[in-house]
Parts: sequence; C-alpha cells; structure tokens
Amino acid sequence: MAITEKTNLMDLDRKGMEQFVQSLGHKPFHGRNLIKWIHKHGVTEFDAMTDLSLRLRETLKQQAEIRVPQVVTDQAASDGTHKYVLEVDSHNRIECVHIPEENRNTLCISSQVGCALECSFCSTARQGFNRNLTSGEIIGQLWTLIHGLGKPVSNVVMMGMGEPLANLDKVVSAMDIMQDTLCYSLSKHKITISTAGIVPALKRLDGLSDICLAVSLHAPTNALRDQLVPINQKYPLEQLIPACKDFIEGDKRRKVTWEYVMLDGVNDSDQQARQLIRLLAGVPSKLNLIPFNPFPGSSYHCSSPERIERFRQILMKAGIFAMTRKTRGEDIDAACGQLVGKVRDKSRRALPVTAPNPWLEGRV
Ligand code: SAH
Repeated sequence: MAITEKTNLMDLDRKGMEQFVQSLGHKPFHGRNLIKWIHKHGVTEFDAMTDLSLRLRETLKQQAEIRVPQVVTDQAASDGTHKYVLEVDSHNRIECVHIPEENRNTLCISSQVGCALECSFCSTARQGFNRNLTSGEIIGQLWTLIHGLGKPVSNVVMMGMGEPLANLDKVVSAMDIMQDTLCYSLSKHKITISTAGIVPALKRLDGLSDICLAVSLHAPTNALRDQLVPINQKYPLEQLIPACKDFIEGDKRRKVTWEYVMLDGVNDSDQQARQLIRLLAGVPSKLNLIPFNPFPGSSYHCSSPERIERFRQILMKAGIFAMTRKTRGEDIDAACGQLVGKVRDKSRRALPVTAPNPWLEGRV
C-alpha cells in the first residue's frame, strides 16, 4: 500500500484552508472555522472542533494532521528572556527567543535552518545552511509560544535564524496568518521582517505585504559592507537603499529601521558616522545600534560604550534617530547573532576555521 502524506494544516493560511476543505468536498467556509480552532483557540484535536460536521472531522482525521514544533529546551536568562530550541524534524532544530518588556512581549522567530549568507560577524552563519522552514514551521513558533507554553506575544520580529527574504513565500504566508483576525490579529505595525538586503525579494515583498522593515546595514560603504555582509557584492548599496525607500514610500509614518552592529575599529569611527548620514540622506530612517555579541571563534570586538554613544550622538545631531539596542538574553546566547540551533546536514560550505569548532559541538 502506498504511504499517503497527510496535509499539515499548519502550512495553510485562510485561503489555503478554504481550498483544502473544498478539495475534500465540503463548503469552503468550514476552512474558516478550522483555521480559527487551530490558531485562535490552539486546538489540535479534530474531535474537539465541535462546529465541524462529524463527516468533515472524520475526513480530516484521514487526510490531515496538525503538526507543531516540539520544544526541546527552554533556557531562561536573568533578564526574563527565554530561548527555546524547537525540533522541526528529526534532523533539524531551530531557536526562537521570547523577550518580555514592560509594555510589550516580543517573539523573535527563525525563517530557515541555518543561514547561507555568511555575514562575517554572525554565529548563525558559522553553521551553514540546511533548509528553508515551511510556513507551518514559521507560524508554528508563534503557535507554540502562545498555545503550547501560554506566553503572551504582542510583537513578532523575523530576526532569528536565517534570511527571511530568501524564503519569501513561506514567510509571507506565515505573516498573513499572524495578521488574520481569525488567528492572531497582529497589526502590521507589530510585525517586523529583518533582511540583509536581497533586493529582488524586497521588491516582491513590496507588493505582498506592508509590515515593518528592518535592514542589516552594518557599514556605510560598499567596500566595507562587501566584507561584513557579502550579499552586498550582489546587491550593493546603490540598489539596496532605493529599494528600501520605495518599500516605505506613500506612508509618512513609516521609517526604515537600519541595524548597525558596533564593531570596534571596523565600522564605528566618526568619519563612518558621517558617511552613514550622507548615505541615508532623504530616506526616512531610524538606526538601531547593536553592541556586537561575541561568540567563540569570532575575531571582532564590541565597540566601547563611549564610542557607541559618540557615534549615536553624531547621528542624532544630524537628525537621524538612533538608539542603542539593549542586549537581551546574553547569558544564554540568545542575543542577536547568537542563535545556532542545530544543523546536521551542512549542504553548502566548510567552516572557515580548521580546528574543531567547539561552538558547533554539543550546543543543544
Ligand atoms: N538575516 C536577517 C535576519 C537576522 S536578524 C538579517 O540579516 O537581517 C539578526 C540581526 O542580528 C541582524 O541585524 C544581524 O546582522 C545581527 N547580528 C548578527 N550577528 C550579530 C552579533 N554577533 N552581534 C550583534 N548583532 C548581530
């Protein structure tokens, strides 16, 4: 007998759910009830979905499943941040981070297992790239936090492992579920996608979604950005900056958030602050200065607090709002650039170090 794969309903947004239910010979509106059970009420047992007919429930049991990521570990930092390792299949684990603050609860989620972009200061890059997450695995992180663990989430940032714009369709579908009033009802102002700058995908996203945009800039010139964020060699600043400007155009309240990791002696001089001001002239912007989070084997150092403050002041005086990002979850390696999860099948590249890398051994 052939093994038939059940459809994982976590992968379906509202339209997909309606189409699926219709393909089973039922009225599409039942898809709306179904998606509500799953995402608003957190129910995964078909028998508990009492407003679906018995016949539909029986068909669903045969044809479908609701498969959510499994929590492998939950580490709490001293500041209340939690880092979760989630298993998405028997070979792949990802990390997501819950950051409680006074007036909001942010969930930082992953879009890929590993990352292929090789940014030189990021530990996720060290592990190589394994695969894209499905939309069910992306939204499954939010599902797990809210319904599995009972945590409040008011904001979602796609700033975990991976490059979201390299997995655009699945990310957009998951973001649609986040915003759907039958599901999580998150406003577009509470969802941020962070990208290293894949320009064609950013242009496509422009027509699909108007969530908040954060861009990992990290350097004011192509020469330096080529080294720090190698995707810049393909999509240099003269393509990236206008594409970001276009993305927010038409809405006066919107700004691009530029992420800028502060690397001692690399990108943190007064002159580089002034270059940044020139680069961003005419683009509604705010800057997030991120103190570099070191990891074993990294050759960079974080700029001193005085240097970061001086850099910030130069930007502020030029009218660019800049804030220094408070590092959260540092003591559990949950801070920016410290998420590594677990990748067994490295498909792309050898490590840039020759000695065994303890960072990759026994991490989770
Ligand atoms: N690939 C996407 C999503 C990752 S977001 C992107 O590049 O935007 C994670 C953010 O943390 C990015 O801005 C990334 O550049 C930054 N980051 C990576 N490594 C870091 C480190 N070691 N210290 C501080 N920030 C880091």
